Amino acid sequence: MATLPQTIHLATPMPGPEASALDERASSALPRALTAAMPTFARRTDRGVLEDVDGNRLIDFGSGIAVTTVGGAAAPVVAAIREQAENLTHTSFAVTRYAGYVDVAERLNALTPGSSPKKTALFNSGAEAVENAIKLARKHTGRQAVICFDHAFHGRTSLTMGLTAKAAPYKGGFGPFAPELYRVPGSYPYRDGLNGQAAAARTISQIEKQVGASSVAAVIIEPIQGEGGFIVPAPGFLSELQRWCHDNGAVFIADEIQSGIARTGAWFACEHEGVVPDLVTTAKGLAGGMPLSAVTGSAEIMDSAGPGALGGTYCGNPVACAAALATLDMIEEHDLLKRADTIGKTGIRLMESWKAEDPRIGEARGRGAMMALELVDPVSQEPDAALTAAVAAAARSRGLILLTCGTYGNVIRLLPPVTMPDELFAEGMGILEQALRDQS
Ligand SMILES: *Cc1c(COP(=O)(O)O)cnc(C)c1O
Repeated sequence: MATLPQTIHLATPMPGPEASALDERASSALPRALTAAMPTFARRTDRGVLEDVDGNRLIDFGSGIAVTTVGGAAAPVVAAIREQAENLTHTSFAVTRYAGYVDVAERLNALTPGSSPKKTALFNSGAEAVENAIKLARKHTGRQAVICFDHAFHGRTSLTMGLTAKAAPYKGGFGPFAPELYRVPGSYPYRDGLNGQAAAARTISQIEKQVGASSVAAVIIEPIQGEGGFIVPAPGFLSELQRWCHDNGAVFIADEIQSGIARTGAWFACEHEGVVPDLVTTAKGLAGGMPLSAVTGSAEIMDSAGPGALGGTYCGNPVACAAALATLDMIEEHDLLKRADTIGKTGIRLMESWKAEDPRIGEARGRGAMMALELVDPVSQEPDAALTAAVAAAARSRGLILLTCGTYGNVIRLLPPVTMPDELFAEGMGILEQALRDQS
């Protein structure tokens, strides 16, 4: 197992010779749509550090897009994967079942918000979980309309592309999209200035007037929007919306694929608002780096689909299930919810102090280890995508793995593994601060 010094080390400029050679092969072997944020190739990871093929040790503020919350190649996860792989790599749960799947389902049933009876079905990717949550909501309600939001991201398959808001790069030229998907405004306090009640009233009015309450099968929302800009809705927005769904017989789906599984300092981001969704989708952080996703929720809704109506050849792969169980154990045993919360408080406090002296920072926001800086024109508050790209590029060249997001491309998002040591997190934040300073 890789044990890497938890320090940054730049051996070559990136891409170094090994990475350049791979880059060349990738350009001719892979479609150009497959772009990457970092100009290098990975060799191994350990907690907060990723070592590339040229021996550069980088600080990881991306967690492979919010996946390796417990750290890349975390020792207990690797041990669980190894043991499982030596015994059973695949049977298909639809052919011969195995215990690990049931174990993961029981854990998610217990961990997700709400105490009424719940059930879980497992899938492979986030998009696949979203697809199945929508299938179940439609089957349960006998209705078709699905409400999604401005700035939403729910995946890249045909149905989930339709639910995703951003045209470029996700949707352009890939239509037509599935019918009966309706996009409404959500809550973006920095830009709309509305409190939770006012934002919910606007959303609900639009649903009722343009779709009709009795047509709505589901409302699907990210409790903190990920790809769309790490947007934390105003307090009260989610609970008003959830109440409307309850009153009108619509299924409230929380897409916790990015925000769930300890990322925000709680098991699920909707817990911060005391919201109990009907269905919750999880993926990314669930299995410590292995592909696994889930739909968890009300037993009645989950049982609305008949025998054989859910599943897929690889869904709930036993190795991925073993990795998930080790990941969930790790979060409990190492109190990683608390750790995510601490990282968030430290990070936000620091970014607030930068903001006090830098009017290009429109907002520093987030919860736990899901934090962001929205960069704007100091005078007009217009999104500054060029500055954001320049800051990210400067930080990356100094050895920080850093992602951007946002409908307007003007948000720097921080997603460190929560097992990252404090000193390394501080060093990464120092690189980001310097990268911002250098672009003035
Ligand atoms: C990443 C993401 C998805 C899609 O997950 P994939 O595994 O990439 O299909 C869906 N919803 C949210 C909120 C996400 O962040």
